[in-house]
Amino acid sequence: MLLRQLREVMAAPESAQTRLDRIVVLIASNMVAEVCSIYVMRPDGRLELYATEGLNPDAVHKATLRVGQGLVGLIAARAEPLNLSDAQSHPSFTYLAETGEEAYRSFLGVPVLRSGHMLGVLVVQNRIQRTYAEEEVEALQTTAMVIGEVVASGELPDAGPPEDEDIAHTRPHRLEGLGLVGGAALGTVVLHEPRVEVANLIARNPDVERRRLDTALAGLRASIDEMLRQTDFARGGEPREVLETYRLLAQDRGWVKRMREAIATGLTAEAAVERVQSDSQARMLRQRDPYLRERLHDLDDLAHRLLRHLVGKVDTAAAGDLPPDAIVVARNMGPAELLDYDRSRIRGLILEEGTPNAHVTIVARALDLPLVGRVAGLLALIEPGDRVVVDGRSGEVHVRPTADVERAYGEKAEFRARQQQRFARLRARPAITRDGQRISLNINAGLAVDLPHLDEAGADGIGLFRTELQFMVSARFPRLDEQIRHYSAVLDAAGDRPVIFRSLDIGGDKILPYIAHSKEPNPALGWRAIRMALDRPGLLRLQLRALLRAASGRTLRVMFPMIAEVDEFVRARALVRREVELMTTHGRKPPDKIRIGAMVEVPSLVWQLPALLSQADFISVGSNDLLQFMFASDRDNPRMAGRYDPLSPILLKTLHHVAEQAAAREVPAHLCGELAGEPIGAMALIGLGYRSISMAPASLGSVKNAILELDAGDLQAKLLKRLESPEHSLRPWLGDYAKCHKITV
Ligand code: PEP
Ligand code: MG
Repeated sequence: MLLRQLREVMAAPESAQTRLDRIVVLIASNMVAEVCSIYVMRPDGRLELYATEGLNPDAVHKATLRVGQGLVGLIAARAEPLNLSDAQSHPSFTYLAETGEEAYRSFLGVPVLRSGHMLGVLVVQNRIQRTYAEEEVEALQTTAMVIGEVVASGELPDAGPPEDEDIAHTRPHRLEGLGLVGGAALGTVVLHEPRVEVANLIARNPDVERRRLDTALAGLRASIDEMLRQTDFARGGEPREVLETYRLLAQDRGWVKRMREAIATGLTAEAAVERVQSDSQARMLRQRDPYLRERLHDLDDLAHRLLRHLVGKVDTAAAGDLPPDAIVVARNMGPAELLDYDRSRIRGLILEEGTPNAHVTIVARALDLPLVGRVAGLLALIEPGDRVVVDGRSGEVHVRPTADVERAYGEKAEFRARQQQRFARLRARPAITRDGQRISLNINAGLAVDLPHLDEAGADGIGLFRTELQFMVSARFPRLDEQIRHYSAVLDAAGDRPVIFRSLDIGGDKILPYIAHSKEPNPALGWRAIRMALDRPGLLRLQLRALLRAASGRTLRVMFPMIAEVDEFVRARALVRREVELMTTHGRKPPDKIRIGAMVEVPSLVWQLPALLSQADFISVGSNDLLQFMFASDRDNPRMAGRYDPLSPILLKTLHHVAEQAAAREVPAHLCGELAGEPIGAMALIGLGYRSISMAPASLGSVKNAILELDAGDLQAKLLKRLESPEHSLRPWLGDYAKCHKITV
């Protein structure tokens, strides 16, 4: 009855203030209360009496309370209803003389919330001492939802959440996360899981709404069960534990009961979900305990999903219309979900979760999409269509950036685009230094999406093909024929250009979900890569078989990661030879040429170079791991990031030693760590004697641009003299050198 009348008020063409005035009268008469008042939150953080039936009308727009002050302030602080039979005996009771409320004993107040944000407080009071029934509390909360609409409409003068509280949905925010893929982008927010706008709050027929809720709940539960059954890592971004939690929550009787009760008060099913969700959002924003906060977060996410089931919109944003500059925001997602997006329309990705080695991170890197992860609380602050800046280098996210920030990033992006255009013009030009040294520039790859980069970047080949990536984005262990197809496609795409496949570098923290694995205390130093492969040769043999078959009649280059002693290399190579023999006995044509190499990334190997170089056809230095192990500094630990510089004289000296030894024995030496992708790093490597380096495709243009300006012999002569220096890093010196010689780094 009340809701029907409220619907009429909302439909009438009246000012927001008039609506509030009419609403308080309606509520008071429906609830048989002598008083009904609405307090609205002002930007200065005070709650102002905006409308009242029963209290002194002169107090309207005069009486105010701080959050936390009096009963009304207490409700705003806690975001919870307060139901008191004797208000004046409550320790928080404050008497506002101007309102004349001393006459009233019983008090019921509820928060006015929207998306968890505190917009005001709605109160009813009675003269006699009484406790309001559970249904009355429900009814008042439902009404508060309608009032929330009026307040949020923006038509009330001086209303709105305080500017200095971290809840404003309209002001700029700068958030800090973890930069996972470099580069910066400016664009328009697209929520990976679109939210549903609830248009109809008031139901015509509660029975119909109850049935709609039940159907949607059944659909939601079935979809969670389905995700759990699939165990398809490629599609579902959610780790199993999250799904298990969702399943429990979706069955939670309290949650379902609260939504049914909200429907019983006259709300539509969508509005009921939103009402209950609004309560948990309010608790979430105020919850300090990280564990409980996380559970409320789960519940919030689940409510969004339920809403989407209710309106039959269960697809992710990838299936809908995207703006041309989409920046996708999600709590988390799987790699294949990212691949579902139209690449030409997405510019960046922001995740509330996300880690450096997550599969979605790997795919984002392959797509050269700036990515910031670990941005806590982002989804609660952001609206679809907002402007946002994602800076994968610094880990910063600017929500609704100010004009200055937007301009700065816009200029950065434009500069980058112009630079890329300039580099694109260099595509066909070989990388030759001013003194005539030809440098082979290759790309690091691992997924099918990487292959077009070979031509786009004008690369000489693939210097590192990380085969584990295909395994990591698969739902199960890729079968022999799938592996063969994958490797053949890589070789086809490369044509005459060389490809160096690296055998599976898994274990440690690169865990394949379908292979049982025990947790290790020091994963980087544990049972991983070649160690695992030699202990359980089945996996490696299958992979080698696939590689040999894919390269039948062509050249196969394969190398082994994490070699710590020459004996490991010899044993791995023996496995290749055995597979070749098997292949020929089965009448299959082996590759025309087989080149077997070792990665130099464990420092112990640096002291076995003569023995290694007499056995290996080539070597490739993994500077990422070499740095981590030489400096005993975890490469995945954000606190260690940047602490030691790969341009430190000691690492450069080691790299020089490796290059020299290899050259003396005429064994090709490549380098494929991140160092090669920095123009200043590439420049140093050439000075140390490297002539073949491999990097992320996006870096190739800037590296080539630097090389074309470089006199390798001159740099070498000067650089080698500095390798004994005790400095932290030669970066400043190299920077000066570049500047002096007009090399853009
Ligand atoms: C390295 O360690 O430098 C390397 C290229 O391999 P990854 O980064 O895959 O460990
Ligand atoms: Mg490595």
